[in-house]
Amino acid sequence: MRIDIATLFPEMCESVLQTSVLGRGIKNGFLEVYTHDIRLYTENRHRNVDDKPYGGGTGMIMMAQPIHDCVMAIISQHRARPRIIYLSPQGETLTQGKVRELSEEEGLILICGHYEGVDRRVLDELQAEEISVGDYVLTGGELPALILTDAVARLQEGVLPNEDAYSIESHYDGLLEFPQYTRPEVWRGRAVPETLLSGNHAKIREWQREMALETTREKRPDMYEKYVLEHAEELFSKNKKRKGNKDD
Ligand code: SAM
Repeated sequence: MRIDIATLFPEMCESVLQTSVLGRGIKNGFLEVYTHDIRLYTENRHRNVDDKPYGGGTGMIMMAQPIHDCVMAIISQHRARPRIIYLSPQGETLTQGKVRELSEEEGLILICGHYEGVDRRVLDELQAEEISVGDYVLTGGELPALILTDAVARLQEGVLPNEDAYSIESHYDGLLEFPQYTRPEVWRGRAVPETLLSGNHAKIREWQREMALETTREKRPDMYEKYVLEHAEELFSKNKKRKGNKDD
């Protein structure tokens, strides 16, 4: 998979793209990520990338032409037309389901706005989809683009050690993850739950499953309700089996 980030501040992205799991994944060739400086595509002498909004108002608007030419230059480097995404507080909110969908694409172009945003016409011209990282407003699209890149990168084969590393994780199957513990066994009088030390893998899996349900019920009742509705039959038969085992 190849991700291209079009931004006025490539240096803001570079350090993140070189660090930790994401950095290793890119270095080891499990995905390609490139940043592109929109300013290099300006046609005016002063390399201006923004101008005052028509109709008045505070702040500056990023001009259509440099964004358009930058994106077209990126497209020309791809075999097939990549999906074009503008990071925007007005977009569809990013979820793990959306991340999974995007992770299956061959190419993504991420456009980062800045200042008061971008000239609407370039988004229409490029038929850009809009994705938001939440109902709040940031100063630029760089952090959202990096969030999307990181989330999508984790799902590329080779980036994480194995599928468990992302499939047994909050949001993957509609639940939050169970609580996790590491050494020591007792810390400040707080002991690790006994089941986790039992070495009985079936029991541990069952405990983790129950705790995932319990954690979701407590922290995200909306997700819990949805999950229970969608898995009613499975939960009912598990409960019945457990009751049967107890009665034996
Ligand atoms: N004037 C715009 C509006 O009210 O919709 C907000 C512009 S914001 C200050 C500047 C840039 O930050 C946007 O163009 C967008 O790329 C990015 N941005 C801000 N908040 C975001 C969010 N929640 N999700 C994704 N991108 C965001």
